[in-house]
Amino acid sequence: MAVEAKPAETAPETHEFQAEVGRLLDIVANALYSEREIFLRELISNAADACDRLRYQALSDAALIEGDPDFAITLSADAEAKTLTVSDNGSGMSRDELLGNLGTIARSGTSNFLNQLSGDDKKDLSLIGQFGVGFYSAFMVADSVAVTSRKAGADEAFTWVSDGKGAFTVEPGARDGRGTTIVLHLKEDAAEFLTEARLSQIVKTYSDHIAFPIRITGENPEDGDAVYPKQLNSAAALWTRSKSDVTEDQYKEFYHHVSHGFDDPWATLHFRAEGVIEYAGLIYIPTQRPFDLFHPDRQSKLKLYVKRVFITDECDELVPSWLRFLRGVVDSEDLPLNVSREMLQNNPVVSKIQSGLVKRVLGELAKRAEKDADNYAEFWDAFGAVLKEGVYESFENRDALMKLMRFKSTTREGWLSLADYIEAMKDGQDAIYYISGDSAEALAKSPQLEGFAAKGVEVLFMTDPVDEFWLSNAPDFEGKSFKSVTRGGADLSNVKADEKEAAEDSSKDEDKTDDASVSALITALKESLGEAVADVRKSDRLTASPCCLVVEDGAMDMHLERILKQHNQLNGAAAPRILEINADHALIKALAANATGDISDAAHLLLDQARIMEGETPADPSTFVQRMAAVMTKAMG
Ligand code: ADP
Repeated sequence: MAVEAKPAETAPETHEFQAEVGRLLDIVANALYSEREIFLRELISNAADACDRLRYQALSDAALIEGDPDFAITLSADAEAKTLTVSDNGSGMSRDELLGNLGTIARSGTSNFLNQLSGDDKKDLSLIGQFGVGFYSAFMVADSVAVTSRKAGADEAFTWVSDGKGAFTVEPGARDGRGTTIVLHLKEDAAEFLTEARLSQIVKTYSDHIAFPIRITGENPEDGDAVYPKQLNSAAALWTRSKSDVTEDQYKEFYHHVSHGFDDPWATLHFRAEGVIEYAGLIYIPTQRPFDLFHPDRQSKLKLYVKRVFITDECDELVPSWLRFLRGVVDSEDLPLNVSREMLQNNPVVSKIQSGLVKRVLGELAKRAEKDADNYAEFWDAFGAVLKEGVYESFENRDALMKLMRFKSTTREGWLSLADYIEAMKDGQDAIYYISGDSAEALAKSPQLEGFAAKGVEVLFMTDPVDEFWLSNAPDFEGKSFKSVTRGGADLSNVKADEKEAAEDSSKDEDKTDDASVSALITALKESLGEAVADVRKSDRLTASPCCLVVEDGAMDMHLERILKQHNQLNGAAAPRILEINADHALIKALAANATGDISDAAHLLLDQARIMEGETPADPSTFVQRMAAVMTKAMG
């Protein structure tokens, strides 16, 4: 047994919690109150992670666990003192780690996330589920928490104490051997967590799958056979069991452990791959989108085990980043136990596991999409935007991914697939039309859609920023190319309109502006606008609006241009736009009748209108206002 670490003669130091922690503690104490028994799950989960971490380190430094090679988590309750103690012989924490881990939240985006919380219990509970409260949940049941920890390999221990109200202290402490002891001074109304029956029930419900023994100390005068410490869980890694031995609830609880989430899994994939390489997997697709899904590091959080020993949860090669929402465990039989994190890069075993996982997950998604479209829509809502990154990044999975994509459109409610779109295409239509922008509601009012609506042609809304990227990389789906309705090439002349719509269309023919005066107007507009436009053309995509902007077929989409500008990623000038005019619109007719006069103000106002419809600002707001005033004055005069 290691010697007891003696406290040095130093006074406790007081530290303030990081503001985010204070906020989180408030929420934990209030919003999560109804589920407060989960504090034990969270503490046991952390203890098991600490054992996992040390077991991995000990593979290359056996001295770390010398004399105490068996990992365990121990609970003990003291009814008199009203304390519950959770203790582990895992990695332990140094003084700096205590300060860093139990006083701050390092995840970026945390404060933004916490600001979204409303104080409404129900809503907050589901949001906080994306976050995980971990250690701080102890303050749901305790009015004071003391953590004494001794890092494996170190001979000094430190004690962290807090009442969860803004500050904590750290001072030298005493602990036999490595690991962490958490003493909860239970609140008056939390005495239930002092009885073996209650603790045992909580462990069985939430933590049975923990692969280390969870024991309770004590005595049982009524049961002479009871041996203390008594083991409460079955302590066999869940993924090693056969499916028939695992209940739905056990799968769910394991998910809570690996994901640190409160939601339930949307899908659970438990499998064993045998053949050239052997591995077991227990992989989950969450229901809820985590708050940091779009964090730039795009890291995977799957846990890699080798022969039941945890290796890392930072192996980015295990799944492609467009499946980074997966949670769970992969356990390989082929990797060496002493595999270092560096060795995992470009490792052929890991890349085989990756392609196996991708196939399984995409297969499962396809199956679920087929079986229950509404349920699949829930998945798509949460993670579709991430999956689309794969269309851009993974050539070999592109076809499978494109079948899994869902879109909203101008003509139908709900989500549709590309196959649904193609099925409903009009006679003579040879392309998949789309319009991209920030929201379907705003896009639905785009002038460029008018001609498509008139002919009954469906247009897909592309509202995720990633759409611009995969679209530039996925020229077709089943032989049909994608065409933006805001580009020159979106030509509707071959598309036959529905009968009713065609009738309405031809009724307007009588008062069509004659071609010669439209040509004269186009020439005059070009002259006035000069370099401000690439061209001026008569449009066949407008019915109600006088004009709109489009770009040349091969040019950058206007929406992408705006995204890049926002992120300062656009060097040099943007592609010049084409101003399209609607020859049937009263304003254009009036202008055509006056094309020989001075139409310079009107020309610029037309262009600025079109820009505003794109969600942009007029090229020069003050000139815009002056022109507008001049035109209005004239009209009233
Ligand atoms: P999370 O577990 O989600 O990271 P927590 O707030 O629960 O967040 O814990 C913060 C960190 O404190 C953990 O990541 C871990 O590094 C450390 N920690 C917590 N409990 C223990 C423990 N029993 N042993 C060692 N380290 C621990």
